[in-house]
Amino acid sequence: MILIDGKKEAAELREKLKKEVLELKSKYNKVPGLTVILIGELAPSKIYVKNKEKSANEVGLKSEVIRYPETVDEKTVLNKIEELNNDENVSGILVQLPLPKHIDKQKVIEKILPSKDVDGFHPTNVGNLSSGYESSVPCTPLGCYLLIKKIEPNLNGKKAVVVGRSNLNGKPMTQLLLKENCTVTITHSKTKDLKSECLKGDIIVAAVGIPELVKGDWVKKDAIVIDVGINKTDKGIVGDVAFKEVSKNAKALTPVPGGVGPMTIACLLKNTIECFKRVQK
Ligand code: NAD
Repeated sequence: MILIDGKKEAAELREKLKKEVLELKSKYNKVPGLTVILIGELAPSKIYVKNKEKSANEVGLKSEVIRYPETVDEKTVLNKIEELNNDENVSGILVQLPLPKHIDKQKVIEKILPSKDVDGFHPTNVGNLSSGYESSVPCTPLGCYLLIKKIEPNLNGKKAVVVGRSNLNGKPMTQLLLKENCTVTITHSKTKDLKSECLKGDIIVAAVGIPELVKGDWVKKDAIVIDVGINKTDKGIVGDVAFKEVSKNAKALTPVPGGVGPMTIACLLKNTIECFKRVQK
């Protein structure tokens, strides 16, 4: 079985991006800029943002974090996004989720210019992705896609099963696999007989949030299995896939941690560079 090393793949991608930033710098005399807005004091959000800032600096992007207290009002945030939309030194804007309850997430997402929406959450980008046009693609599914393509460059006609239908993961993942000519089944909490659906997959992507939901006998021999889940349990952090059992059947499998997670941040940097390049055209 191939253990898909997300850390290594992400490091390789960052190295490529670092070179690209240098080339862009010599061509345009400026570098892409990423601005992250962080609201409140949630520990996981603070860790993610710190990692994003560190990685952005490593590849040579201009990075900035704007911090607001939990009590900040919606208008202040929307006005700041407007200001960043108009700032030509800012290529990409990311508002770290989740937001405090008094701030309307959708309003915030829609305020970001689609051309600066590095998370790919704006309805324009969602629509463009599903229409097969150029768009920013949400970072986690993009990372999964790159890992799958590394194992199997030609996905034509493969059967793919996506477990979970969130806007963040399952739905964009489905679009990316469709674009590659896979026959895609999207499954969710109301799916009847998830096991038999999974057994059809040459590729399985699990993005659910239930520890070790996908069992060894749910996976056909030589399937590629991508585990997006991050679940805190008594045993430590585990994915949505029963790693030990599934590794006996799968052709390739991502570990948790060290699989999809590192690719997510690398893809955010990639998206920032893509946003910069589209504007320079
Ligand atoms: P979500 O809660 O928004 O969506 C979960 C999906 O799973 C839903 O569509 C739901 O219908 C489906 N589901 C729930 N129970 C199910 C069941 N029994 N059978 C089949 N489907 C079921 O979650 P999300 O934001 O997509 O995140 C999913 C997991 O991925 C979480 O563990 C999260 O922590 C993790 N995650 C990881 C990364 C990363 O970088 N690795 C990024 C984002 C999220």
